[in-house]
Amino acid sequence: MSDKKILTTAAGIPVPDNQNSLTAGERGPTLMQDHYLLEKLAHFNRERIPERVVHAKAAGAHGVLTVTHDITRYTRAKLFSEIGKQTEVLGRFSTVAGEKGSADTVRDVRGFALKFYTEEGNWDLVGNNTPVFFIRDAIKFPDFIHTQKRDPATNAARDFAQWDFWSQVPESLHQLTILFSDRGIPQGIPFINGYGSHTYSFINAENERFWVKFHFKTQQGIRCMPVEEATRLAGECPDYHTLELYRAIERGEGPKWTFYVQVMPEKDAENYRWNPFDLTKVWPHADYPLIEVGVLEMNRNPENYFAEIEQAAFSPGNVVPGISFSPCKMLQARIFSYADAHRYRLGTNFERLPVNAPHATKVQNPYQRDGAMRFDDNGGGDPNYEPNSLGGPVEEPSYAEPPLKISGDADRYEQKRGVDDDYIQPGNLYRLMSPQEQDRLVQNIAGSLGKCPQWLQEKMVAHFTRADEAYGAGLAKALGLK
Ligand code: NDP
Repeated sequence: MSDKKILTTAAGIPVPDNQNSLTAGERGPTLMQDHYLLEKLAHFNRERIPERVVHAKAAGAHGVLTVTHDITRYTRAKLFSEIGKQTEVLGRFSTVAGEKGSADTVRDVRGFALKFYTEEGNWDLVGNNTPVFFIRDAIKFPDFIHTQKRDPATNAARDFAQWDFWSQVPESLHQLTILFSDRGIPQGIPFINGYGSHTYSFINAENERFWVKFHFKTQQGIRCMPVEEATRLAGECPDYHTLELYRAIERGEGPKWTFYVQVMPEKDAENYRWNPFDLTKVWPHADYPLIEVGVLEMNRNPENYFAEIEQAAFSPGNVVPGISFSPCKMLQARIFSYADAHRYRLGTNFERLPVNAPHATKVQNPYQRDGAMRFDDNGGGDPNYEPNSLGGPVEEPSYAEPPLKISGDADRYEQKRGVDDDYIQPGNLYRLMSPQEQDRLVQNIAGSLGKCPQWLQEKMVAHFTRADEAYGAGLAKALGLK
């Protein structure tokens, strides 16, 4: 026999015929004993795993982070321990609202999810291309996302629900000003910035805590797509961003981002004029300047999209020693909900899939055992309980974080600092745009809000006027309101 590859069943049994099923006679019905046919059809029926409710459509690639500046005075995280250090990274870049088959060139926030395979476990930084978000409390999240999805009766996309929601949640004004600006439709993934968005914390070797924000600034420059081109491409080439990223990497022109942090001493948070844990706010650069850290480069395409990108599972709960959380209410909820979504989508052993496994660590010793699809040695004969006297893995107290001082009465707080809290930063953003950008912003808003009833348009104009009078006036004019 030649060295041709022989087709087998999933159990490795050679298949004699992959074109004709086994029948009783030439025209007879198919026989139950055609096990190969049954296996083929049954597996096909199970090819789809649950689609992510949000961030379903994505491109992804592998890459590397190279440290170019010393930040060891802020963090003891090993991936930042020396200049020149390189850490393998997986990146997944998504839209938020659309389904897995939806078009890339729509107006939407872009997900910017990174998994750093560090020597002390995986650090997942699950951010967006915007430094803020629509809401600051996860209790609103399912409602907000429903406004981005199809109408429950018609199953069609709609404009009313989002404006109805936003008009009653003014904390969303900042993010929706970014969404309807030019940056709401990027030219491509290489041309967006990435932000960790939430406030996180750094912990240094002296066990001091700092609050930190993460920024990845594109080295390709911000480039946005004109609305008409985006609309055309959504029809003609719905996977445009996905393909363009793949081709750029194939050409050896993988995108690069300069990695910065903003660092706030722990004590500053008490009296800072903004709530530093409010996800609808930025820390102005004048207050906390960007500190350069390194370069992120995406340089290797996946060989198999499903295995490496669809099965990739990022969780804000995955932080490594030297990096930790903050009281941001959205972050606190995402620590739960991302891993929960992956357990539903991929099963309880999702961290063992090759793309999610912490392969850069020398130790990987949890006491978790069993569960569906446990496909490694399941811990072999090692002890499966702790404490034990059998030499099993034990905790290491030197990894403990400094205690976080917390005080106050348990209650449901709106977390607002003054009546103008939700309006100042959207106004600041509007004012930093050129007159042409401001004009396109209000035209873009009017294009969507104009499909809603006049009472809702007037309500939104009142909100934008509080952010900046010219913003409100420009929008009223674009909508043809008095
Ligand atoms: P700065 O002038 O120090 O920073 C302005 C930032 O705004 C730059 O990072 C710039 O990013 C970004 N930017 C410019 N145009 C747009 C746009 N159309 N949409 C989104 N971002 C844009 O000012 P402040 O720090 O005082 O912030 C002012 C406003 O800038 C904020 O209200 C916020 O909306 C926005 N912003 C602030 C960021 C922060 O971390 N402070 C980060 C991103 C936005 P680039 O250099 O890439 O063009």
